[in-house]
Amino acid sequence: MPVWVQLGYLVAAVCFIVALKGLSGPGTARRGNLVGAAGAVLASVIVFFERDLDHVVPILIAIAVGTVAGVVGAQRVQMTQMPQLVALFNGVGGGAAALVAVLELHEFVEEAETGVNLTEFDLVATAFTVLIGSVSFAGSLVTFAKLQELMTTRPVVFPGLAVAFGGCLLAGLVLSVVVVVEPALWIGVLLGVLGLTLGALLVLPVGGADVPIVISLLNASTGLAVAASGYILGNTLLLVAGTLVGASGTLLTRMMAAAMGRSLTNTLFGALKGGSTLGAGAVSDRPVRSAGPDDVAILLGYANRVIIVPGYGLAVAQAQHSLRELVDVLGERGIQVDYAIHPVAGRMPGHMNVLLAEAQVPYEQLKEMDEINGDFKQTDVVLVVGANDVVNPAAKTTPGAPIYGMPILNVDQAEQVVFMKRSMRPGFAGIENELLFDPKTTLLFGDAKQTMSKLLNAVKTL
Ligand code: NDP
Repeated sequence: MPVWVQLGYLVAAVCFIVALKGLSGPGTARRGNLVGAAGAVLASVIVFFERDLDHVVPILIAIAVGTVAGVVGAQRVQMTQMPQLVALFNGVGGGAAALVAVLELHEFVEEAETGVNLTEFDLVATAFTVLIGSVSFAGSLVTFAKLQELMTTRPVVFPGLAVAFGGCLLAGLVLSVVVVVEPALWIGVLLGVLGLTLGALLVLPVGGADVPIVISLLNASTGLAVAASGYILGNTLLLVAGTLVGASGTLLTRMMAAAMGRSLTNTLFGALKGGSTLGAGAVSDRPVRSAGPDDVAILLGYANRVIIVPGYGLAVAQAQHSLRELVDVLGERGIQVDYAIHPVAGRMPGHMNVLLAEAQVPYEQLKEMDEINGDFKQTDVVLVVGANDVVNPAAKTTPGAPIYGMPILNVDQAEQVVFMKRSMRPGFAGIENELLFDPKTTLLFGDAKQTMSKLLNAVKTL
């Protein structure tokens, strides 16, 4: 490899590391993203000039198609649909790595026929990439379908699922060994098909509320598959980039599982044990206390301490700007107001931080769950804007509920709670929230954007 190529790859690898560092904080995330993208462009350009490529025209067409799909997809997607997009992009990455490995296997087999000695490690890496890449591809597609609500978000379990999963896993391992011992293209293809089945069977039983952990896990596995494909292709940069994604994805998976009070095995296999299937998603007709914007304005305007709990509905309604204005007006009245940020509020890690940063909410007002959970006891009013699961006491009180064990914001400890939502429908986990029926709770029904501006006007006229 010429020195200029090695240097170029080194610069690209450093870009990826700097990008990860930038992505770890909201203030630097945008810059981090751009640095990472610049590294990826540099790497792609180097590949073009490094060696004499065959099939340049089809490659350019594929790049053009991919670029258009990526740009149009990313521009059109609503912010609330970002996790689906991430799941899809991640799946495509895993699928590409698996296809590359199948093609390399084909070449290995041809080389072996001409007497070239294959190293076993090459074949191990190939089998690993085919299996894990296709698991990632199929798993990500099922995750996409769940998040896009193209299928039910509840765990999908059927008799014999555990046996089918175990059987596929065993067959996958056996075929991987066969690829190493007796390499053949059709075995690689069969391994890929098994991987696809395994990926689907892995994600189907995962309940909606646990999907974020699975996205992160699949992301990590795509990283590992890409790293292994880097080894097969002799491309150092793929190896580095894949390892970075694998390592950061693994750390994120562990952090998210901890934030949701879950072990990874419980997340993946809980439903197989009959665990997380409670909640039929039925809408209750029990009486609740509702009020109009004027009543809620009085409640807020005469409080000393208010905490705002933002959730997915805030993002759907795009009410973050009026919410910030409301908080400003309350602040001018001398009321202490903070935002309580649950780690899985919304539909992607950091969703609420991004949403509120867009509305120029100062970072100091955003309090992480552990930091603010002790304050609810001394809080007069909690305003829950489009959040549900992250404040649902069933996480503490109802063993078997899909969110049981997930740490929640202790909203139930405050003196008064106001929920802004459109109906009595449950949140993502599909279970009723007992707090909605609590005597201290008031519901302000309506789309959060409209009710928020009415509430803002009412507070201004107090
Ligand atoms: P939830 O999905 O639990 O609740 C959202 C609430 O918003 C619902 O009660 C809904 O009620 C209300 N809502 C929706 N649209 C509007 C609107 N236009 N105006 C007013 N209210 C609206 O959200 P949470 O943020 O509390 O919890 C997040 C859930 O998503 C968790 O279960 C988490 O596990 C899961 N998840 C999280 C991911 C992450 O990484 N953060 C990724 C994937 C899933 P109504 O329909 O009555 O209006």
